[in-house]
Amino acid sequence: MNDQSLVLEANGLVRTFSQGDLRVEVLQGVDLRVAAGERIAIVGASGSGKSTLLHCLGGLDRPDSGQVILNGQDLLTLNEREKGRLRNRNLGFVYQFHHLLPEFTALENVAMPLLIGGLAVNEARQRAIGMLTQVGLERRIGHKPNELSGGERQRAALARAMVHHPTCVLADEPTGNLDRKTAEQVYELMLQLNTERRISFIIVTHDVELARRMDRTLTLVDGRLENYEL
Ligand code: ADP
Ligand code: MG
Repeated sequence: MNDQSLVLEANGLVRTFSQGDLRVEVLQGVDLRVAAGERIAIVGASGSGKSTLLHCLGGLDRPDSGQVILNGQDLLTLNEREKGRLRNRNLGFVYQFHHLLPEFTALENVAMPLLIGGLAVNEARQRAIGMLTQVGLERRIGHKPNELSGGERQRAALARAMVHHPTCVLADEPTGNLDRKTAEQVYELMLQLNTERRISFIIVTHDVELARRMDRTLTLVDGRLENYEL
């Protein structure tokens, strides 16, 4: 694999949290290479640092040392504004709880990243409708999050994460809050969007059945990523 095809790369990530005298060495040298369109599952015990890792990869948290390279740019050398712009263009985030803004409709929530990115209102609206249609929510565009079911909310969150055509989606237990059948549907949808658009996915999950459907699975053990044979 040549480096051109890498969308995201982490080298020697170290992240330590201190609370009083207690030091928790969460990441102790994480290396990761993600190719365009690749689907990676990350598993690991609760508290092993999976969320911390995703935050560092997404530029939402700063590692103590190491390197994160997103689309060829070293995140840690950028100022907040440049980092924000790079992140808005290239990444989508999905969380266990949808994090949709409660006072806005599905359409407004999905259009938000486009408006932040500077797209005109009409264009943003059309693209958001297209994306919501793709996730099967064309009849729910005017609904607010509390008027949607759990699965619908997560599909709206997925639409929001992907509407700007990121190169990589970082998902932290995106189906952890859903029943089996709904989790399956959301997962299917992610895989379908991955294939259609060649967007890379890094998904943290507890669900080994779902992890099995990815290209490869890594496990976070003692602060490092190892291959995990399913
Ligand atoms: P996981 O997502 O695998 O369950 P996390 O990344 O959330 O694990 O947390 C890993 C460890 O780091 C835990 O022991 C947690 O308490 C600690 N931790 C995470 N964030 C912070 C923080 N902001 N301050 C202090 N400790 C933290
Ligand atoms: Mg977590």
